[in-house]
Amino acid sequence: MQASAGGRGSENLVVVGSGPAAWTAAIYGARAMLDPVVYEGEPSREMIPGGQLMFTTEVENYPGFSAGLDGQALMAEMRSQALRFDTRVVTENVVSIEGEASPFLLRTSGGGGVRARAVIVATGARANWLGLANEERLAQIGGGVSACAVCDGALPAFRGKVLAVVGGGDSAMEEALYLTKFAREVVVIHRRDELRASPIMARRALDDATIRFEWNQEVTDVLGTDFITGIAIRDTRTGRVRELGVGGLFIAIGHTPNTGFLDGAVELDGAGYIVTPRAWRTATSAPGIFAAGDVMDAYYRQAVTAAGTGCMAALEAERWLAHGAAPEGAG
Ligand code: NAP
Repeated sequence: MQASAGGRGSENLVVVGSGPAAWTAAIYGARAMLDPVVYEGEPSREMIPGGQLMFTTEVENYPGFSAGLDGQALMAEMRSQALRFDTRVVTENVVSIEGEASPFLLRTSGGGGVRARAVIVATGARANWLGLANEERLAQIGGGVSACAVCDGALPAFRGKVLAVVGGGDSAMEEALYLTKFAREVVVIHRRDELRASPIMARRALDDATIRFEWNQEVTDVLGTDFITGIAIRDTRTGRVRELGVGGLFIAIGHTPNTGFLDGAVELDGAGYIVTPRAWRTATSAPGIFAAGDVMDAYYRQAVTAAGTGCMAALEAERWLAHGAAPEGAG
């Protein structure tokens, strides 16, 4: 159901986002009779509604689907489940959240606005990519390029292959170590000769006989038509370019949370993630604004943990609306 959020005083609950956290928050909010509206975002070159799972071909670690399923199919299921309980969905971005206190004014990319007594921000984080044309293309068609080894590394296509991991941080070390379960060899490609990873993670990776390091190298091209066959790497000291045959490429150069539009509405940490000050709670620094999923979680970043925090945010918003919020229709 496509719906307009206009023509009312204040909405009880507006959910911003369309990944597992957002749809779970909507399902719980709708079943609690909060009549939620989801702003699922507008498709653009960098972003499509549905979040990062839209770029994942096979999801094998989401409980309840023993045969695994396609990331896009999982998101379509979650969206349908929210619609089944009459969640209203608007295919626009929220571009700002304004107001000192609830009800907040959310301005949207369609030029309109909506007032909300409670808001759940579940806009996720995007994996950083190298920005190479064939990298993006192969990632989108399930051609052996991924930004999440834990999501994709166990797929049969990667078994027994030489797999490359790009990056020198904790994520790169963790992904490289994880991939040793499946790969013949893991090659870590790092642009410097010193790791950024914590000493313990670095030591584990350096000591692992299945992992080889290519120091001072940057990836300049990704090779392959339907599936990756290799990469071109350039030595940052000599400029020499050579090709490396690989059967998979995992990019682990950090994530960027989608919080730019918040512009001071809630407190962010140094990396731009939303701060939820109380342990096991989703309330932010602004009473009435809650956060769920990867936008507040740089640590777990899994679909199932995002869904879990979406549930938590809806329950917390429901209780806050019952006890702490401005009266319905205010503003
Ligand atoms: P990160 O610490 O920011 O590391 C990113 C790595 O990617 C750096 O080595 C960086 O190189 C490299 N890089 C960035 N842009 C690049 C580019 N365009 N081309 C090539 N290389 C590029 O990110 P992260 O590893 O995702 O970790 C994020 C946070 O989560 C950290 O605080 C980390 O400790 C934490 N984390 C912890 C664990 C754990 O404890 N198990 C696991 C994962 C993440 P330079 O070093 O040259 O800048």
